[in-house]
Amino acid sequence: MIAADLQLPTRHAPSGLLDYVSPSRLNLWLKCPLAFQLKYVEGLRTPTSPAQLVGKTVHRALERYYRRRQLSMECDPAQIIAALPGDWESLQAEDPVSFEDRAQEQAMHLQARSLVETYLAQIPCDESRPLAVETEIQVPLVDPHNGEDLGIPFLGIVDLILDEPSGPRIIDFKTASRGGQAVEILHEVQLTAYSYLFRQASSATEGALEIRQLIKTKIPRLERQTFEARTPRHFSRLFGWIRAYLDDLDRGRFLPRPGLTCAGCEHRLTRCQAWQPS
Ligand code: SF4
Repeated sequence: MIAADLQLPTRHAPSGLLDYVSPSRLNLWLKCPLAFQLKYVEGLRTPTSPAQLVGKTVHRALERYYRRRQLSMECDPAQIIAALPGDWESLQAEDPVSFEDRAQEQAMHLQARSLVETYLAQIPCDESRPLAVETEIQVPLVDPHNGEDLGIPFLGIVDLILDEPSGPRIIDFKTASRGGQAVEILHEVQLTAYSYLFRQASSATEGALEIRQLIKTKIPRLERQTFEARTPRHFSRLFGWIRAYLDDLDRGRFLPRPGLTCAGCEHRLTRCQAWQPS
């Protein structure tokens, strides 16, 4: 069981490339170092898509739901649904998204609502108490194998930690257009990163990790995939990737890495085509 006085630090994220390592930066570099360079080194930002706005709205609604539960407030899904139009508007104001027309925006808004309704209908009100909700954690990167401090912090945002009898359960929310069988390696960097952040910040060990994925089918569904607590093998692999990532940053070496994500990459016909080895 986790200590009752668990304190997870909340900090403001620094912005520089060498200010910190994060799971999302690491994941993009793993997918394609050139795409990473264009986003984080050159600062090329692509506009937020309607699908991303749906995901952000769902995240915000679930954050509100669990913050209320953390404060022992009444579990009332209707209040969460009623707040959705406001969430949508405020996210749009923060980072405007272009829609084809009004009908598309309404359809996407309805999709977000339907996903949140699906989630709230399937998760019982008497779930374990939340220990942390949408919590930013920053800790030093110290290799557990040899104690070496890599000299750069690790920073990530954990969606939810529940205080379960078998130990804290670290949960990540996702929205996806397709579901299917749990393929652990797809989530390995993220899961091990959250475990590392949690253990370093709390001195406790998670009981399990879980991905809760809302699938955007015509009738939405919730898929839950549970994974065992991380082992030394996982941390060894995580630090192997982090060292290779830091090497690439030091050398300024960012190779394109063609793969399944190329079809949807905005750089495919421009900067990627222009790339040549130096
Ligand atoms: S098209 Fe593929 S290889 Fe090229 S930058 Fe995009 S993700 Fe990388």
